[in-house]
Amino acid sequence: MPSAATYASRAATKIVATLGPASSGSERIIQMVQAGVDVFRINTAHGSSEEYEQHLADIKAARKATGQMVAVLVDLAGPKIRLQDLPDGAVHCREGAEFTFVRGENPPQTKTELTTTLPTLVDDLQVGDRIMLADGAVSMQVVETGEDLARCRVLQPGIIRSRQGVNLPGVKLSVPAMTDADREFAIWAARRPVDYVSLSFVRQAAEVSDLANLLIAHGSEARVCAKIEKPEALENLSAIVDAAGIVMVARGDLGVETDLAEMAVVQKQIIAICNQRQTPVIVATQMLDSMQHSRYPTRAEATDVTNAILDGADACMLSGETAIGEYPVETVAMMERIALAAEKMLASSEITRTFHDQHRPLGLHPLTHAVVHGVAEIVQRLDAKLVIAASHSGATALALSNLRMSVPILGVSDREDTLRRMNLYWGVRPMSGMPLDSVRKLGSLVADWGNECGTLSPGDHIVLVRGTHFGPDVHNTLVVHEVK
Ligand code: PEP
Repeated sequence: MPSAATYASRAATKIVATLGPASSGSERIIQMVQAGVDVFRINTAHGSSEEYEQHLADIKAARKATGQMVAVLVDLAGPKIRLQDLPDGAVHCREGAEFTFVRGENPPQTKTELTTTLPTLVDDLQVGDRIMLADGAVSMQVVETGEDLARCRVLQPGIIRSRQGVNLPGVKLSVPAMTDADREFAIWAARRPVDYVSLSFVRQAAEVSDLANLLIAHGSEARVCAKIEKPEALENLSAIVDAAGIVMVARGDLGVETDLAEMAVVQKQIIAICNQRQTPVIVATQMLDSMQHSRYPTRAEATDVTNAILDGADACMLSGETAIGEYPVETVAMMERIALAAEKMLASSEITRTFHDQHRPLGLHPLTHAVVHGVAEIVQRLDAKLVIAASHSGATALALSNLRMSVPILGVSDREDTLRRMNLYWGVRPMSGMPLDSVRKLGSLVADWGNECGTLSPGDHIVLVRGTHFGPDVHNTLVVHEVK
């Protein structure tokens, strides 16, 4: 069991860290957990399944060493289109120069030809379409199409390199949501202790449901994370959020697929819809990007993390910073410090959520919904110091998380997968090995634990929520315990 002091000092906002060469090995992973990581992301766009297996083993070792119920998110690459290898590895695209995308997936034969991982790309292109390369640094416009080609003119000059991503803002691609490789990785994840599986380039809610069904069919209860990075996803946002377990504002591709000038506005809109529907939302990409090569972030980056949290993000994600950066542990520690500072403002301001009386999250029993709101009222009236949610599925812990109370929520469960999943929920700290048979025993154990570390004092109140087997996932009991 981790110390109560560890729990008390952790930010309520969760940190998702992407694994890569810079963060491999159990020792490094333990350091990152101690610095503040709650969820590790395995990106299937890079690496091999042997490496992913090793990551899972290292994370398991870190759980044992730290007592933290670290969760795992497996990120499926989705139908990301990439350039095939270029003849010289790279080519300088001068303004006004012409390049021709040709049918097929073999490497191009000349310096002005381009092929991609989508052999039929030319079928989806029309005159006037824009093609963004190198994360949007280079852009071209289609000026002519033919049976097997699309001729393009460079608008925004720059260098493009082999295997770089190709984005087609506004082009409705006919590719399926999941590639064969995605399906294989999803099944791989379903058979392992993986808590979230994310789908890239989601366009419709049905794509999210398909992945959820695939996971269920392979015996997994992992929740689907819908990565919002395409204009079509913005058009179908409410339905996608309802279908997804969690959502990611995937700003890397979103910033290329949509107008970068609108990035902050779009981020706020996505977070608002997720908050309204009580679906956890992760803000991702370039949050502390300069820390890949610096021990300190820029002012703008520190402000970006703070603003995402004030917008209502449940979690912030690190990508290159922890996967290939020089200072993965320092970056996590910095994000944790920024989160703690932002949360001070959340706690002191009157930013309370107003949606919860109108909206009941899908699957949350009306009785549990009512009890959860009773908890918020009691916490306020008694100035309670801690809430304990004893939950089989974690739905009650999520509902409590959504109230954004300033007291920590201890999540307890008889299921290890529920405990791990809870580790992504804002303000919820899962704790394993707690007795669930007796409220009295649970209350006293937590009181002793908090007392020992000075986070609870005699006279403090703890509020416990649990079910009495009234029905599946019904939490009909609320008990107030006083610390002796
Ligand atoms: C993103 O585009 O912001 C993202 C998180 O996805 P990926 O890292 O797969 O590009």
